[in-house]
Amino acid sequence: MGSRCESDSYKPRNWAQNYRKTMATVPAARPPLAALPEANTWQKDMQTAFRRLDPLLRYLELDPAGAPEALAADPDFPILVPLAFAALMGKGDWHDPLLAQVLPLARETLPTAGFTSDAVGDLPAQVVPGLLHKYASRALLMVSHQCAVHCRYCFRREFPYGDLPRGKEDWDRAWEYLATAEGVDEILFSGGDPLFLDNRRLEKILASAGALPAIRTLRFHTRLPVVLPSRIEPGLLELLRSAAADRSIVMVIHANHARELGAECTDALAALRNAGALLLNQAVLLKGINDDAETLADLSRALIARGVLPYYLHQLDKVQGTAHFETTEARGNELIAELRGKLPGYAVPRYVREIAGAPHKTPLSA
Ligand SMILES: *Cc1c(COP(=O)(O)O)cnc(C)c1O
Ligand code: SF4
Repeated sequence: MGSRCESDSYKPRNWAQNYRKTMATVPAARPPLAALPEANTWQKDMQTAFRRLDPLLRYLELDPAGAPEALAADPDFPILVPLAFAALMGKGDWHDPLLAQVLPLARETLPTAGFTSDAVGDLPAQVVPGLLHKYASRALLMVSHQCAVHCRYCFRREFPYGDLPRGKEDWDRAWEYLATAEGVDEILFSGGDPLFLDNRRLEKILASAGALPAIRTLRFHTRLPVVLPSRIEPGLLELLRSAAADRSIVMVIHANHARELGAECTDALAALRNAGALLLNQAVLLKGINDDAETLADLSRALIARGVLPYYLHQLDKVQGTAHFETTEARGNELIAELRGKLPGYAVPRYVREIAGAPHKTPLSA
């Protein structure tokens, strides 16, 4: 054969060099971010959040007289919805999956057999005030008692936040515990929502955590990038970026439906990735909201498109006031099996439930 073999021009030694040249022409990995919000925008956004039902219904063009069932907010867990989240809801739709997460039904106040105030055993796991140590390698600090939104299915809606530490001495006990806790290499910041703290307080907390050499990972469990994306502002990103210089920063966001991931949230997530955080999502399986395979698949696709890995799909915790959201575990398992047929393995969340006293979350799907 006279034709020249392709391999004649193959020069393996040059490969790495060429590769490097090619890579140098690839644009910076992430697209330029939309202008980030001003530092104090999020606090202003909280001032204008919906705290009463009537204005929210008016904004959504819903007539209270047309409600499909009786509404009534539990005075201990009033309605709270930032405008950024309400803006993602469909107008005139009582069954909107985002509205259903925040709409207080009169049914919430009826006691339901098997639904209690501390279904997941938080109180016995509280080793010092504000610190839950359930699992060997990680401990959870409840740094804030506030959230930007009140999710009606919240597993901590009955938690006695009033008893959380307030003064410095109380928090010192938690830091002392963490300094000597055998085998703990990760601190989870939760609450409430940890990003509801202002940057000054977050900086102190990050400094305290940074002084513990055994702690390798700092994890935030937060719904703010979704419901109050203006919280992801330059000051916070700077704090995270500097903490990420010598620790892993993991951010577990909380979205239950693809429609929650709006344009501002998408920018906030890009900014968080840019600051060096690993992004995961946890969702709760909610009847009438996401208990459908295509809805869950859309959520996973929307998360992956934004660089967020679906982590947990939680079976609802049996907390008083949440029974109307419950779906059976059998149904949950069917949904996971359907998801496996639709999605790559990495986009199928782990379906788990929390059993009080167990050494980790309990997997429900085979
Ligand atoms: C859920 C939870 C964690 C985290 O569990 P992972 O399986 O690591 O995500 C840690 N501490 C407490 C108290 C929890 O409830
Ligand atoms: S954001 Fe989380 S902790 Fe806050 S109300 Fe919703 S579910 Fe509860």
